[in-house]
Amino acid sequence: MSQFKALLISKGEDAQQVEWTEMSEDDLMDGDVTIRVTHSTLNYKDGLAVTGKAPIIRSYPMIPGIDLAGVVETSASAAYKEGDKVLVNGWGLGETHYGGYAERARVPASFLVPVPKAFSCEDAMAIGTAGYTAMLCVLALEDHNVTPDKGPVVVTGASGGVGSVAVAVLAKLGYEVAASTGRTSEADYLKELGASEIIDREEFSGPAKALGRERWAGAVDAVGSTTLANVISQTKYYGCVAACGLAQGPDLPASVMPFILRGVTLQGCESVQAPQEKRIEAWNRLASDLEISKLKAITEVHAIGDVIDMAAKIVAGQVRGRVVFEVG
Ligand code: NDP
Repeated sequence: MSQFKALLISKGEDAQQVEWTEMSEDDLMDGDVTIRVTHSTLNYKDGLAVTGKAPIIRSYPMIPGIDLAGVVETSASAAYKEGDKVLVNGWGLGETHYGGYAERARVPASFLVPVPKAFSCEDAMAIGTAGYTAMLCVLALEDHNVTPDKGPVVVTGASGGVGSVAVAVLAKLGYEVAASTGRTSEADYLKELGASEIIDREEFSGPAKALGRERWAGAVDAVGSTTLANVISQTKYYGCVAACGLAQGPDLPASVMPFILRGVTLQGCESVQAPQEKRIEAWNRLASDLEISKLKAITEVHAIGDVIDMAAKIVAGQVRGRVVFEVG
């Protein structure tokens, strides 16, 4: 098939224009591997890109979608051959390089990760950047010796994509997990994933004390702002907070006291430019430490035609867990 369907975002005079269009494989960007995209997904960042709420797209026109999974159609790289199942997370996909909301993609082979044997392409996109970033956060806690015996860990933005996967993985690894959420109606969902305590996110919404009561051995924070500041102030001696998100805001109104008096580590987690070895490690750990049944329980599957509606929903905080799009 040389023609394929793609969602294309162009820069209008005032606002961006988002439309479905027919493209040809000749329109694809340079790369040594062409992929028949079977699945993509919806991350918060995709919501921002499609709605135009934040300047995610850095080159127009652009096919959005920061993740994709599918089957290699043609390859000029010795590392991949026709029929291989592959995935891409980040590397500028949907920002500077045509992304996952299209039936075809062409990328440099260095962008690709083989889909682990334990997963289908649909599973890989149920994980997506959100789940892979959750795993990067878990690896950061382990790197800082936050082991289950050190005490409870807290996950903020727990009903979101990063949060849901973080709760499920940490619980499977034996941690006592507190889930902070604004949707306390999702308590059963979060307990099902393995949370042992549900915290109303209001608790973290006020100004943080310089040093709060020590509660957490570690934390995965997808939210930023006062939430992150409160979590840092409540982190125990030599604990670690893995920060990856800004769903509440990009500010950090915190004190240095937890760092200089308790030796707390604030570890940033970044998925887009993460080195290949880290990606492979994270994906291998997801294959062993994320139960497929839990993954299915947090995932809604939609036709790719729903992407514009779903983008508005994730930005409005109305998406629970993960969304997969069937593309091909
Ligand atoms: P989701 O929208 O799925 O989840 C975000 C969650 O944050 C929501 O479900 C909600 O959880 C909580 N939340 C939303 N608004 C607020 C608010 N005003 N105050 C407090 N909590 C709020 O997004 P993702 O899980 O895909 O991404 C989470 C964050 O991580 C985003 O900021 C995203 O940009 C970032 N991210 C960063 C990456 C990196 O490489 N650093 C990679 C992937 C994601 P609840 O309803 O449970 O309260």
